[in-house]
Amino acid sequence: MPTEKRLTCQTCRAEEKHEPLTTNERTWLREQLGNPVSDNYFKCVNVRPDGKVCLNLRTHGHEKHFRLTKRLPDDLE
Ligand SMILES: [Zn+2]
Repeated sequence: MPTEKRLTCQTCRAEEKHEPLTTNERTWLREQLGNPVSDNYFKCVNVRPDGKVCLNLRTHGHEKHFRLTKRLPDDLE
C-alpha cells in the first residue's frame, strides 16, 4: 500500500505532500475514467492560499498524467 510522498504538483508548481486515494476517491475516479484505478494515483494535500486543499491528481511516475489537470471534488472523503 503506497503511503504519503512528496511529489511535484502541476497546479501548485512545487513539490508538495501527496497522499494515496481513499476508497471513496478511487470509486469516484473509476467512474470518471471508466476504467479500474490502480494504487498508483496520488492527490496533492497542499493547502492553497484560499484555504482549500489542492486535491490535484497525478500518478506516482507522471506529474502530467492527465492531459488536462484533474482534481478531486472537495466533498468526497
Ligand atoms: Zn497541488
